[in-house]
Amino acid sequence: MNASAGGVETSDVVAAALRDKRPVVALESTIIAHGTDAQKARYLQPLLSAEEIWCQGFSEPGAGSDLAGVRTAARLEGDRFVLDGQKVWSSYAHIADFCILLTRSDPESSRHAGLTYLIVDMHAPGVDVRPLRQITGEAEFNEVFFDGVRVPAENLVHKLNEGWAVAITTLAYERDLLTFIRHISLRNALHRLVALARTRGAGSDPILRQKIAALWIGEQALQMNAYRSLTKILRGGAPGPEGSTSKLFWSQLDQELALTATELIGPYSQIAEGSPWAVDHGQWEFYELLARGSGIRAGTSEILRNILAERVLGLAKD
Ligand SMILES: Cc1cc2nc3c(=O)[nH]c(=O)nc-3n(C[C@H](O)[C@H](O)[C@H](O)COP(=O)(O)OP(=O)(O)OC[C@H]3O[C@@H](n4cnc5c(N)ncnc54)[C@H](O)[C@@H]3O)c2cc1C
Repeated sequence: MNASAGGVETSDVVAAALRDKRPVVALESTIIAHGTDAQKARYLQPLLSAEEIWCQGFSEPGAGSDLAGVRTAARLEGDRFVLDGQKVWSSYAHIADFCILLTRSDPESSRHAGLTYLIVDMHAPGVDVRPLRQITGEAEFNEVFFDGVRVPAENLVHKLNEGWAVAITTLAYERDLLTFIRHISLRNALHRLVALARTRGAGSDPILRQKIAALWIGEQALQMNAYRSLTKILRGGAPGPEGSTSKLFWSQLDQELALTATELIGPYSQIAEGSPWAVDHGQWEFYELLARGSGIRAGTSEILRNILAERVLGLAKD
């Protein structure tokens, strides 16, 4: 767990993954909704306790927002699938034990048909993980190559060629219920921002006060909306397209928070950890760079607005 992959120290990444359990809620909910009894018995407990780390293999070089363009091939040969292809931007793949993988199992199919959802052992022969360094300096996500990887047929989630419905479940939970976890890290950052404003004597600046107050109101709204989603799910419901509101709103707040910290600190906000001039050990420099990805991961803001426009408001299709 503390090994380094491709020269990348993983201990911080593991700590972050365990701290906010980013993919876990969506993966666990998917297995509960679509997995077999044997899959639930085998995978759920160590997934929840983080004894086993999972990653999500959806995006490919030619399939990001347009996820139905997935091309990673899964050929069914007897009692196993054989995988060939490539995924990209797979968070934590370099430390993951398992991957939920969206594959194209029918080579004649296109778009949403002919896709199959598999659980893949990341330690299997033929899996090659190559970390990608990000703007923050970390390497949280990766390219993953599959070269003749064999996957037991019992690792099929739901039905052959019907993986799109399973992927939608994962995405819906990722965009909706996961906001609970995103909200906690946002609230923690907001508390740190308030402390910083006080320390720097900026609490009496009327413009800054307005901005922080707006962030505070947004944070409360995010939390209430997350409770609303949780209540719906606890009553037997499932997240729907309206859940995209939570992820979209969080990403906007997250970026506004980063911007407010940058304005408060001024040019010193760009100094990274390790320099004696770094404010708060460079955490705001890191936060600002990390927030660039908030409007991309788990669906870009443009895509989420399209979903809300078409599927919630009933407006014309994109
Ligand atoms: C930090 C981070 C972690 C990630 N982790 C994972 C992971 O663990 N697993 C995984 O599978 N993926 C992961 N991703 C990938 C992420 O899901 C994709 O980056 C995202 O879906 C966008 O796809 P893309 O990068 O191919 O961009 P593209 O789809 O090529 O989009 C490029 C731009 O075009 C816009 N655009 C595209 N289509 C439309 C449209 N129809 N209307 C309007 N605008 C449009 C987009 O909004 C975007 O601005 C991660 C990404 C980030 C940043």
